[in-house]
Amino acid sequence: MKKILSDLSHEELSSLMEVWGERSFRADQIFTGLMQGKRISELPLPAALRERLLQEYEDAPVTIAETFCSQEDGTKKFLFRLSDGNLIEGVLMKYKYGNTQCVSTQVGCRMGCKFCASTLNGLVRNLSAGEILGQILCVNRAEGGTLKERAVTNVVLMGSGEPLDNLDNVLGFLRRVSEEGGIAISPRNISLSTCGLVPGMRRLTEEGIPLNLTVSLHATDDRERARIMPVANRYRIEEILEECARYFKRTGRRYIFEYCLISGENSDPAHAERLIALLKGRPCHVNLIRLNAVEERTLQTAREREAQRFLEILRRGGISATLRRSMGSDIGGACGQLRASYEKGEFH
Ligand code: SAH
Repeated sequence: MKKILSDLSHEELSSLMEVWGERSFRADQIFTGLMQGKRISELPLPAALRERLLQEYEDAPVTIAETFCSQEDGTKKFLFRLSDGNLIEGVLMKYKYGNTQCVSTQVGCRMGCKFCASTLNGLVRNLSAGEILGQILCVNRAEGGTLKERAVTNVVLMGSGEPLDNLDNVLGFLRRVSEEGGIAISPRNISLSTCGLVPGMRRLTEEGIPLNLTVSLHATDDRERARIMPVANRYRIEEILEECARYFKRTGRRYIFEYCLISGENSDPAHAERLIALLKGRPCHVNLIRLNAVEERTLQTAREREAQRFLEILRRGGISATLRRSMGSDIGGACGQLRASYEKGEFH
């Protein structure tokens, strides 16, 4: 695999052009073109420079292999092809306030959560900063967006992969995606979701990037959590909560807990009461979602009524909470489901 040009910041592109003896406005042209979602071969450059770039860098590190459009709610699901042939997926959800794209940070995942399709075959490899960014640039272009009128306004790092298991590249991505003159999405419009890798959370706090820190909690005590999330054997809920508090102190940003309702596992009224006890008084919000049942997994989704009751108990207990609408369920909306079925040949 060749190198990836969008791994470089505008400044790094400028240095590269200087080293190559090119005039400095070439870096601006390349930066703008890449941010518009163009491949190297489409950039308006002299042929010799384009050829030189193409010898060292991938022409198009991320391309859209397939697009699926939900008939239910306009949600679009994308299957991306990387230059080494690996596939990753992403979703674009349309809301009143803008469009949110869900991006992947790794091919596969090694966290082993029992309800998740992304981790079924383990981790294949990390994505580079430019590959994470590339997913957004392609979709913005495909949806008719420009750098002034963006078709993608918000980002969630909730596709396949554990962002804090690929932290250097994710930090590089966060710098790249908010760069001025580029797609310029501010950290405030970005949510980073983690299964709770405490050392990575600590680094995020140290960096002080004011994004929406989201933790996949899914249980109210460590033992129950470990049944569905192996990571709970490494880090305790208490440590996670402490780190969230530090993040809040540093950034002033309220944090979010994802809680996926699984029947017979974590969705009884008693669980809701325990969740209240755990989170009461903290500057946080709880996002409930009913499990998207995965074919290869035996866990059962909670019923709508069960979910509504859980939500009411939390709210009565003074916890800010919402029940997320499941979007695009007709197109395999949940994590890793599209790639899994694609690789099984269901779409061929
Ligand atoms: N690794 C990160 C981000 C990717 S998963 C994390 O764990 O947070 C994004 C969210 O989808 C997480 O909250 C994850 O627990 C949840 N999720 C995964 N599979 C799901 C499924 N089948 N149904 C509902 N939510 C799921």
